[in-house]
Amino acid sequence: MPTGFFTHDLCQTYDQGRGNPETAARIEAIEDQMIASGLARCVVPLPSAQASMEDVLRAHDKGYVEELQRSSKSDAVKMISDDTEINKLSFEAAMKSAGAAIEAVRQVCSGTLRNAFACIRPPGHHAGRSFAHGFCLINSVACAALHALDAIGLKKVAILDIDVHRADGTEDIVKNDPRIRLFSLYQASAFPFDVPKATAPNIINSPLPEGTEGGDVLRIINEQWVPKLLDFKPELILVSAGFDAHRDEKQAMLKLTEFDYSYLTYEIMRVARAVCGGRVVSILEGGYNIRSLARSAVAHITTLARGVRE
Ligand SMILES: [Zn+2]
Repeated sequence: MPTGFFTHDLCQTYDQGRGNPETAARIEAIEDQMIASGLARCVVPLPSAQASMEDVLRAHDKGYVEELQRSSKSDAVKMISDDTEINKLSFEAAMKSAGAAIEAVRQVCSGTLRNAFACIRPPGHHAGRSFAHGFCLINSVACAALHALDAIGLKKVAILDIDVHRADGTEDIVKNDPRIRLFSLYQASAFPFDVPKATAPNIINSPLPEGTEGGDVLRIINEQWVPKLLDFKPELILVSAGFDAHRDEKQAMLKLTEFDYSYLTYEIMRVARAVCGGRVVSILEGGYNIRSLARSAVAHITTLARGVRE
């Protein structure tokens, strides 16, 4: 079975405002690197639609979504939080990103795809039930998880967040939902800077000191996450795939390499094969050094496409 690749047209045009590192060039660089590496011929590009309001309202409060929609209609650019701008394309781009993640989940759960990567922007994991944060408006991974549970009928889903920044938005949405386990590794001293008000029994946070290398991250995953995942037995594994823990990333100070992203992906796939028939849907979050983002994302997607050795 193939690996699906989902993106949308606004990834190429949506602009978060001057000086914001979350740019269209991120997606272009990933797609260029996919062509250069030959990976583009090994994955299946698939269309998706904008998320439905029903899907989004499982994760977000109605008043908040209405505020996003209203703010995005106006010609004026405004700040929707202290660090996130909203403009005419913002709402549609965020809805299309969530829609791509949801369609990827649908097709992996129906068995037409082995796994999938949603190459989307804006990212989503800092968006909470009723707040925008960190360039995120709609939380795509949370919408996808709740679609899998409430619309498809799965009983248990795991979210593995490997972005260097803590998934404060995803935590806010999924906390205390016994059907979801959120595993999150992040640089403790990086954005969003606050200490997690942890927490809830379904959230497993793995804060890391500056300078942490890939070997240490892999050890944490193998020793702390894998046993819990094998015990929880999710029917689907979602990955919040930020690539800003790379050693070349200026937004943070961890030391992962492309090789570490490949290895980490392989370990996730081995667990997925053991517990859920290999169902993995990975959703792009951060990664702002264009070159290391593109190389790391391609290492990750290549590993998804190669599959696990028998
Ligand atoms: Zn990040």
